[in-house]
Amino acid sequence: MRRRSGGKGERMEQTEDVLIESLVGKRKTRPTLGRFVDIRVLQVRLALLAISPGAGDLLLFAGKKIGEAQARKLGRKGSLKEGIGIYFDYLKETKVAIPELARCNEKGAVIRGYECAFSYGLPNIGECVCTFDAGFQAGFLSEFTGMRVISREVKCNANGDDWCEFEIKVVELEEKLAEAFRF
Ligand SMILES: [Zn+2]
Repeated sequence: MRRRSGGKGERMEQTEDVLIESLVGKRKTRPTLGRFVDIRVLQVRLALLAISPGAGDLLLFAGKKIGEAQARKLGRKGSLKEGIGIYFDYLKETKVAIPELARCNEKGAVIRGYECAFSYGLPNIGECVCTFDAGFQAGFLSEFTGMRVISREVKCNANGDDWCEFEIKVVELEEKLAEAFRF
């Protein structure tokens, strides 16, 4: 067994790197059982986690950190629309979802994910469960654009909707101040 190294942030990045290395064939998965498992196994775990108290904030935080790290690896900055394009390529490559850009301007965007790997086919449990993805979008787009970007899932397969939908917003300075004084 290899010893773990680095702080929590570094270990989170190492965990995400496993996915990228596996996708490009640099890393083998399980020697006997291979790389495929019915995604329902993971969906059910995520759904149960999403229902658990406080888990939403944790998933959002983890997604945000990973999103920031992935954007830093690109080593360049760009517009919100360009960042969303790179994120969409990532979704297509990993087959996490079929992305669609419903709206986009300099202040924000609305994006949709069809056949989302984490929620498609789940019963209506009255929860938007793709909180990690909202966090990833916020972290990735904040780091890539150099602005503060937030994301919220407003529709989800697990909430009785036909697709997952995220509202992405560039937070203005006044809103930042308002948020700072909100409690
Ligand atoms: Zn969802």
